[in-house]
Amino acid sequence: MTAPSKEPWCVKVDTSLCMGSGMCEGIAPGYFQLVDNRAQPTRPRVGQNDLVLEASESCPAEAILVRDERTGTVIAPREH
Ligand code: SF4
Repeated sequence: MTAPSKEPWCVKVDTSLCMGSGMCEGIAPGYFQLVDNRAQPTRPRVGQNDLVLEASESCPAEAILVRDERTGTVIAPREH
């Protein structure tokens, strides 16, 4: 049996959707950065984190996908 990962969330930004608003960087500094006017996660995996969740939920383009890599479940954005 493997120990549960301490960083179970996988964070991706769909750059074809991102509008470069920079909101995610403002909400979750240190977790996102703008490169060539498109956001990138600074780390592909994070521990459970409210700021990352909030950034995903607040993204006007719904470009930030947060998934539990153990189960594949989409954590955010939630269906509205
Ligand atoms: S909040 Fe969404 S649209 Fe704005 S920079 Fe971040 S990923 Fe791109």
